[in-house]
Amino acid sequence: MDTTVSTQLIEARAGRITPEMEAVARDENRPPEFVRDEIARGHAVIPMNPAHANCRAVVVGSSYKTKVNANIGRSPVRSCNDEEVAKVAVALDAGADFLMDLSVGEDLGDVRRAILDACPVPVGTVPIYEALSRVGGDSKALTEDLLLDVIRDQAEQGVDFMTLHAGLKREHVALAIKRLMGICSRGGAILAEWMETFERENPLLTRWDEIMEICRKHDVTVSLGDGLRPGCLADASDDAQFAELDTLGELVTRCREAGVQVMVEGPGHVPFDQIQMNMERQQELCDKAPFYVLGPVVTDIAPGYDHITSAIGATSAAYHGASLLCYVTPAEHLCLPTSDDVRQGLVAYRIAAHAADVAKGLPGARDHDDAMAKARINFDWQEQFKLALDGDTARGRYEGSRSTEEGDPDHCTMCGREFCAVRTTRRLAGMS
Ligand code: SF4
Repeated sequence: MDTTVSTQLIEARAGRITPEMEAVARDENRPPEFVRDEIARGHAVIPMNPAHANCRAVVVGSSYKTKVNANIGRSPVRSCNDEEVAKVAVALDAGADFLMDLSVGEDLGDVRRAILDACPVPVGTVPIYEALSRVGGDSKALTEDLLLDVIRDQAEQGVDFMTLHAGLKREHVALAIKRLMGICSRGGAILAEWMETFERENPLLTRWDEIMEICRKHDVTVSLGDGLRPGCLADASDDAQFAELDTLGELVTRCREAGVQVMVEGPGHVPFDQIQMNMERQQELCDKAPFYVLGPVVTDIAPGYDHITSAIGATSAAYHGASLLCYVTPAEHLCLPTSDDVRQGLVAYRIAAHAADVAKGLPGARDHDDAMAKARINFDWQEQFKLALDGDTARGRYEGSRSTEEGDPDHCTMCGREFCAVRTTRRLAGMS
């Protein structure tokens, strides 16, 4: 091992509290030693590549506020670099804690450079997307060396965390393709086709030690991808999903042995009653590595509203142990998200994350709600808009619905002045 390089994990194990650990301790109202201990155990991570200038430290772990990731990125048929950089501003304004660039197509280094420069929060990627893009989308032209070159290039550029679908083994493919929805992960599908074409094992797995060297050198946090996450309720919690999860558990151990920070990605589409079991199984198999979940979507029947179907699952997932939620937008399953989709997805997920934090009883989590309740009983509308997750929308609805005669601030058009329960309560309590 090159002893001149270090990671947050290596520092924590050596008993050293880094400036990043101190910063997240302040943000989360936790003692720095508590944060150091959690990083050392691998129960929390601070994804932060030193080459990502101006990036702030953000901690992921179930003892801390639930974080939200926003995916952006060009598709081969929609959007351009400027549009995606504009989405960064929208995502940050709406409260994204993390951002992933899922761009595919040509000149991906340029869009990633622009996103890294514009983004003060940790940025993640899925390197297999760029590897396939560099060979024009032809998986037969994809090589192991190219995949490693991409991982190295992205690490040198400053990417803070990478989704690597190394847990998907060749023996799992047969389990997956007989499902109702087969393989719904882009990265999983690319790797499955490559393995079947060349009759070889997953290159991410066979070259894992070299990948560990790169990640340790740049303190890139590995996000172990779930290439076999279920793409519909019928496929949830099946043999394919859990076979891959077993391998992810083994890879968590290998990351930690290499001094590399690691989190684990999870489903997908899962019926509500299976979410708790999924979270508990992951935490047991992966020794409490932070769990990063996409949704989960709890019903397949609402395209156009999957920010809602998935936010329902996300609250449950976070309550039962997930610590980073990957947002889903109303565009999911339908088209590339617009800036407005990005905003709607983030608002839905900040609600989901906060609801879970309150239910978990995190210190101070309910203060925001109590302040809102106080503003409501006092008819302090300006304070309500200030406290609202999306104050502009709240203000627009309130003000847009009032007529001149209804100008008094002691009610709204929902019940009207004489039927306003808050007004009546204030009278009963001698408040007005
Ligand atoms: S009118 Fe109804 S909804 Fe509006 S503030 Fe009064 S009780 Fe609340």
